[in-house]
Amino acid sequence: MTIAGQITNIQRCSTEDGPGIRTTLFLKGCPLHCIWCHNIETISATPRVVWRETKCIGDRACVQACPNDVLVLTAEGMAIDHDRCDLCGSCQEACPTGAIEIMGETRDLDELVEELARDTPFFEASGGGVTISGGEPLLQHDFAAAIANGLRERAIHVALDTTGYATEQVWTKTVDAFDLVLLDLKLMDENKHRKYTGVGLEQILRNAKILAKLGIPAWIRTPVIPGHTDEAENIRRVASFIVENMPNVSRYDLLAFNKMCLDKYRLFGREYPLRDYPLMRKQTMLELAEIARNMGVANVTWSGMTASESDESERLTNMEGRTAYCG
Ligand code: SF4
Ligand code: SF4
Repeated sequence: MTIAGQITNIQRCSTEDGPGIRTTLFLKGCPLHCIWCHNIETISATPRVVWRETKCIGDRACVQACPNDVLVLTAEGMAIDHDRCDLCGSCQEACPTGAIEIMGETRDLDELVEELARDTPFFEASGGGVTISGGEPLLQHDFAAAIANGLRERAIHVALDTTGYATEQVWTKTVDAFDLVLLDLKLMDENKHRKYTGVGLEQILRNAKILAKLGIPAWIRTPVIPGHTDEAENIRRVASFIVENMPNVSRYDLLAFNKMCLDKYRLFGREYPLRDYPLMRKQTMLELAEIARNMGVANVTWSGMTASESDESERLTNMEGRTAYCG
């Protein structure tokens, strides 16, 4: 039987999704709705038509090509009635500039594994591999595990980038297929977790403990979002949880908030809810990392955009070996 699944895209030469140079596969679908989400294109479990205003020349070829009257181009932009769209692709074919496209596609397992394995020379040279991300890859757990198994048969290192939100049964059988799990612990306050991500924390912490019991290597990651996850007490509680429950964790990453997703939100006709929030300050990131170290977490790193004292943005990458080049 052929196994297939829904993907959003494949990103090559990533140095931030696990060790070495990595190819990151983004699967579609996510049960969380984090207010700071950077990958809204992965939330819907099925492909969706999107429109790029900056590429559109307004000739209405897509509107005329659509058999279901889904598209209406007005002075305000392209109105897309997704409920009527059957993803036939006629609009994408008709558009002369690539302004309209279907984001997401169904991929066959074998062909996908073959494509991911093409980067093996980079993986071997750098100690890298493939990271399966999302969305939440565990929404397509059979597909995710099958991809991981296919890659491991080719001796390729495979990491799972996950929110940890899954039933114990799904979690236990899926994580076993991976060499490394990158688990997000975003907020340690149950009420805030529900408020800002849309789901509870309890199941995630239970799964984190299962991961430790199984002895599967893990990195913990916290997106540091101003006014949401950046309190010292939150980082202290994450660090304390790691020290007390997860001897399998070899690294804790603090990922500073950025706003590079603004264009993606526009594609979906939405405004980024945190568009007016400031970037984190470098000094705060350094202090939060120090808090985690003082709690006893051995390998704490931070990365991302920060604002200087004069509020000028600067790109700071403070992690050794994180700059890599692919040919
Ligand atoms: S994919 Fe087909 S149905 Fe959907 S908007 Fe494009 S042309 Fe219309
Ligand atoms: S076909 Fe492409 S360029 Fe023409 S109106 Fe549609 S989206 Fe714009």
